[in-house]
Amino acid sequence: MVNSTVVDHEIIIVGAGFAGIGTAIALRKAGFDDFLMVDDADGAGGTWHWNTYPGIGVDIPSFSYQYSFEQQRTWSRVYAPGRELKAYAEHCVNKYGLRPRIRFSTSIVRADFDDALHLWRLRTGDGEELTARYVIGATGVLTRPKLPEIAGVERFTGVTMHTSRWDHDQDLRGKRVGVIGTGASAVQVIPEIAPEVAELVVFQRTPIWCLPRPDTALPPVVHRLLGLPGGKLVTRWLSQAFVELTFPLAAHYYGVLPMSKLGERTGLAHLRDQVDDPEVRAKLTPDYALGCKRPSFSNDYLKTFNRSNVRLDTEPIAEITATGVRTAAGHHRVDVLIMATGFKVMESGNMPTFDLHGSGGVRLEDWWDEHRLQAYEGVSVPGFPNFFTIIGPYGYNGSSYFALIEMQTRHILRLLRKARGSHATRIEVTEEANERFFEEMLNRRGTQVFWQDSCTRANSYYFDKNGDVPLRAMTTPEGFWRAGHFDFADYRFTALGTRSGSTVEAAARTTVR
Ligand code: NAP
Repeated sequence: MVNSTVVDHEIIIVGAGFAGIGTAIALRKAGFDDFLMVDDADGAGGTWHWNTYPGIGVDIPSFSYQYSFEQQRTWSRVYAPGRELKAYAEHCVNKYGLRPRIRFSTSIVRADFDDALHLWRLRTGDGEELTARYVIGATGVLTRPKLPEIAGVERFTGVTMHTSRWDHDQDLRGKRVGVIGTGASAVQVIPEIAPEVAELVVFQRTPIWCLPRPDTALPPVVHRLLGLPGGKLVTRWLSQAFVELTFPLAAHYYGVLPMSKLGERTGLAHLRDQVDDPEVRAKLTPDYALGCKRPSFSNDYLKTFNRSNVRLDTEPIAEITATGVRTAAGHHRVDVLIMATGFKVMESGNMPTFDLHGSGGVRLEDWWDEHRLQAYEGVSVPGFPNFFTIIGPYGYNGSSYFALIEMQTRHILRLLRKARGSHATRIEVTEEANERFFEEMLNRRGTQVFWQDSCTRANSYYFDKNGDVPLRAMTTPEGFWRAGHFDFADYRFTALGTRSGSTVEAAARTTVR
């Protein structure tokens, strides 16, 4: 029996950042050529397309912050600046022939699963409908800028900008500038703009752990060495080991290997080395354990507070006025207000960035509200057939984002191959498999760094509204192994024209318009 459902594309990937690009390359390599990528930006690179603030760069060594199959040896620094990442994204798009497959400046606002035809109907912001057998969510999590809910924010008459939407037409030289927030973006922006502005006031709510960054320029001779046989391989392995030790192992196996204690000592010594005034140093010292929230890495951030034109205000912001910011310490007049206030990480409208309705019309956000954030291996959710996500709950273990992308595409590709081989048109994770995985993740909490009492003071976006930390509690090698070995019985593969779970016998034909 052959059914002849016509879809626009076999697969639609939502997002043309590194997750989308990596997925598209994996699909092509596996012979899945009928796919479309959609992105609301007018260029590729996701985070690295949108974030162009002064000082932007990676905070994971570049040797790891790239695809394993497309290693570049010309990074200018161990921690490459943002523009090189954007160029790397464009390079990958061109090299793997993806450009004709991407629709830029197109947002997906809604997706509905058609139970009768085993396909997804996606609606764009312009009201167009696109259909696909499978949808892969590659919209990241640091996607939707978050503006602070502070009284009077709309009254400010100067220039306001969020770090992820930097306005390069604004000349900050000689201006009075306020920065709200002291997360990773602020840590990079503050030392970069401080020397050129007249005055800089930093509004800090929670101090960040700031560790030294083992960064250095990589001159042409290093690029040549990396080109020698084994050069890239050795550097990659050393870099991977460093990342694994400092992120996933430190976070998920804290109970076994309390490395963050060593990190705290390093962070405190860094503060002593860099900050002259003991009062300022005390204000910059976190009162929660390292690891509760994402730390930062900078050799310049802390010492910026020694500058005579930089002030740190740690009083809560009472209001934003037409001309500045008021706290208990006084009113600070500013010409420019920079919102380094982060992203709607686990808030509604972000995971994914479009309204997703699965089998029976159930809304994914409602399902998560009812069941807590969860996804089998961080990829699939029961009741949402043919939808796979790159960074779902319990998908990311804190390692390089590229490791996540390659891990999850491995999982997804196994499913797609299996479905193709058996002519299935509907792939759905079973509730039992999902529950088992969720329980397993919860049971691994015992050794994680996040459950120390002081984490309640950290204001960390790792915690969702239920108090869960939906990070993947495992090492990167384990994640990779599981992506290649999960039991196909954890999924139901069904073909149109057969009852759910019965033998797959139909062949689906997809046609490109
Ligand atoms: P973030 O880490 O969420 O930091 C937001 C900051 O704004 C926090 O200090 C927060 O204070 C503050 N804030 C928010 N609302 C506020 C309010 N109403 N009043 C006062 N302060 C307020 O955001 P981010 O710095 O943009 O970084 C987000 C993530 O992006 C990072 O964790 C990292 O994963 C990624 N990133 C990576 C790099 C890199 O080097 N590769 C660079 C930048 C960003 P509280 O802490 O008190 O909430």
